[in-house]
Amino acid sequence: MQFQPILEEIVETVRPLLGAQGHVANYIPALARVPAAQFGSALRTCDGQEAQAGDSGTRFSIQSISKLFALTLGMGALGDALWDRIGREPSGNPFNSLVQLEAEQGTPRNPFINAGAIAVTDRLVSQGDAKAALLELLSSLCNEPVHFDEEVAASEAATGFRNMALGNFMKSFGKIDNDVAAVLDAYFHHCAVGMSCLQLARATGYLCRDGRHPFSGEQLLTERQTRRINSLMLTCGTYDAAGEFAFRIGLPCKSGVGGGIVAVVPDRLSLCVWSPALDATGNSLLGMHALELFTTRTGLSVF
Ligand code: GLU
Repeated sequence: MQFQPILEEIVETVRPLLGAQGHVANYIPALARVPAAQFGSALRTCDGQEAQAGDSGTRFSIQSISKLFALTLGMGALGDALWDRIGREPSGNPFNSLVQLEAEQGTPRNPFINAGAIAVTDRLVSQGDAKAALLELLSSLCNEPVHFDEEVAASEAATGFRNMALGNFMKSFGKIDNDVAAVLDAYFHHCAVGMSCLQLARATGYLCRDGRHPFSGEQLLTERQTRRINSLMLTCGTYDAAGEFAFRIGLPCKSGVGGGIVAVVPDRLSLCVWSPALDATGNSLLGMHALELFTTRTGLSVF
């Protein structure tokens, strides 16, 4: 299948809608300044074919997409022990909710809500330098250096009161081993990584290759671990809209409030779409629309 014309066609379809609907995330001041009228997409197939269209080379804040890579590091380092303190169920609650955490004694529902990612980050901090580990993984996966956007990290640290509450709350249940401030510093930096659609399409390549590194072929995770990540993306990867994503798109996806969404077609390709304006669930409005157009046009689905 030739993907380049398909991505170009999708850009043409969404272009008239740019900036018309949705809102850029405004609870993180540095994200509130990002111009809404941008859209990019890129993909990389398992045999190395690449396609990209629109603002595919523009770096944006990957935000919660980083939770995918933190989880990958955690699963690689700890294996099944990672799941001692983190569940695998959709939360049915906003990604930064405190309510469920209290009812469930400080055990987050899954690694893709904020509490879950903070718990994963705590385990990574116990292993060593969690910030450097993430940059090293991402730079290796997309074959070029990846950096933090320090302005975004500082902006999150200055306003991340809910995340601080989540971290301290879990600590009060004895579910965080390290200093909460150190864990949050790593978590905020992970969210503040800047990457483009093309870099993310490359970096997620191990998820469509049964855990093999997209360039070196090295086994990063086992086939079983990779399937598990894909299943968590499908059930928990898009906040409280995972059912809608499965229904309309039919692929494992992970979104972030920077407007990026990555998606995986196992054994075929990984792709990334980005447009900063979000819908009420916190997912990129045009990103979701574009993914639906893509799966409709190509017939690709996990179902
Ligand atoms: N840094 C954001 C937060 O912690 C991530 C949110 C997201 O992309 O879901 O609130």
